Amino acid sequence: MATKQYAVIGLGRFGTSIARRLHDAGQEVLGIDINEERVDAAESFVTHAVIADSTEEKALTALGIRNFDCVIVAIGDDMQSSILTVMLLKNLEVKKVIAKALGKRHGQVLEHIGADWIVYPERDMGERVANQLLSPNMLNY
Ligand code: ATP
Repeated sequence: MATKQYAVIGLGRFGTSIARRLHDAGQEVLGIDINEERVDAAESFVTHAVIADSTEEKALTALGIRNFDCVIVAIGDDMQSSILTVMLLKNLEVKKVIAKALGKRHGQVLEHIGADWIVYPERDMGERVANQLLSPNMLNY
């Protein structure tokens, strides 16, 4: 598989697991968080980790964000920051923007502003568990 450049914005549990898996698979991963401790903790499992506020256009431009193949916005609780970040990324013409949504309304806004793929972690994981339970290969529970 060809190496691609990914940026993961928000290094909570969700962003961290994406960043770690991509990096383990040999991909280039830039980890971004506003919180210094989270950036320090990420240094061992990403290619580079930087402290930045993704709601600041200048910070995104300085990181050359438009050159990345894919940017994952893993900010959830701070809905305003999540929406603003996705909007800036789309304005900067980032090729592929994936964003985490907390709920339906949040997801609708993200869709409206052009997020290419919206992930609903709890809902999607719930469906996955149910599908596994319904799978014919699954032993009876
Ligand atoms: P998770 O549910 O993935 O564990 P969390 O509960 O830690 O996440 P969230 O509010 O979803 O909390 O934030 C995820 C990460 O995004 C945090 O580490 C937070 O510091 C970071 N973050 C929030 N706002 C910004 C921002 N404007 N720029 C960069 N990082 C941000």
